[in-house]
Amino acid sequence: MFKLLKRGECYAPKFLGKKDILVAFNKIYKIDENIATDNLIDVEIIDCTDKIICPGFIDQHLHITGGGGEEGFVSRIPEIKFSDILTAGITTVVGLLGFDSITRNVEGLLAKARALETEGLNTYIYTGSYGIPTATITGKVIKDITLIDKVIGVGEIAISDHRSSHPTIDMLKEIACEARTGGLLSNKAGIVHIHVGDGKKGLKPLIELVEDSDYPMEMFVPTHLNRNKNLFYQSLQFAKSGGNIDFTSGESSETGYSVPDALELVLKEKVPIERVTVSSDGNGSIPSKGTGIEVGKVYQLFEDIRVSILERKLDLEKVLKTVTENVAKRIKLYPQKGVLAEGSDGDILIINKEDFSINSVLIGGKKFIDNGKVVKRGFYENCQL
Ligand code: ZN
Repeated sequence: MFKLLKRGECYAPKFLGKKDILVAFNKIYKIDENIATDNLIDVEIIDCTDKIICPGFIDQHLHITGGGGEEGFVSRIPEIKFSDILTAGITTVVGLLGFDSITRNVEGLLAKARALETEGLNTYIYTGSYGIPTATITGKVIKDITLIDKVIGVGEIAISDHRSSHPTIDMLKEIACEARTGGLLSNKAGIVHIHVGDGKKGLKPLIELVEDSDYPMEMFVPTHLNRNKNLFYQSLQFAKSGGNIDFTSGESSETGYSVPDALELVLKEKVPIERVTVSSDGNGSIPSKGTGIEVGKVYQLFEDIRVSILERKLDLEKVLKTVTENVAKRIKLYPQKGVLAEGSDGDILIINKEDFSINSVLIGGKKFIDNGKVVKRGFYENCQL
């Protein structure tokens, strides 16, 4: 019923110092110097000495039904396993389709999001796919966002990519109109999540769209902006003028910038960190030197954050923000998620300070990883225990 996390170094992601955190049922009930347990029954005390406590990561770009398919049917990537997401320290995901909206659909995406939720994860989805007209359940983006609980926006709509429909500014405006109106009607984020490819124009179509309309800049979240160096520097300017920018884990610094490199440059260039998020693009296809393409690992998100903090010694608060608070704000889940605060959901990571490895994961106050061991797996994973 109660869990008391004792004496951990709390990053909310703002640094709070050494605190006790009392979780009651699925919520954080209290954060204080020293919380007494005398009057509580059924309380589990978790010693967090030499541990960092932070909010569970939020991944706003995960191909939960599998991406890929660019090299024929054999290259279609299978659906993701619950424990693969869990062991990456991710407690909330936004699932999305991507390139293939012919052999996959938003209905399947919704079903997978519901399955992962039953298994224990917090899940949302974007309706849509790369192309315009885009894939939907009801036939209209606005109806999907307004009427389907899990749909919080549209994406990933592709621009500047040979696999995109090369949308005109007017086509993008129409999609934005549906997302904006659907978001307002249902009190959701209503964002347009935009895949930016290696194409010639980079962020230009989005910049033109923002300049030529009255849509608020914060409703657009362009991603993969660290995939090449030109695009990266274009994105820093975009963020400085108030735009959101999202980096993808696993990118290499040979062609673009890895996440640790990208975050280091962001801090050096004094880009407002509030504008920056990082997502995994996990379970999608990524270019590979040997085989052409391979499956993007969802765990790479945690690894990139670990390297940024442990090896690059970047500001822990700022780095954590990019996968917790900033994402929660972007997709309108803040302050319910993305932060350690009284009244927030009990989605919590306990991290071993020494090597920044995952010690325990709580989702909605329930323990899913305990002292490095997965204690609750997905529906078809139990046989592997
Ligand atoms: Zn993409």
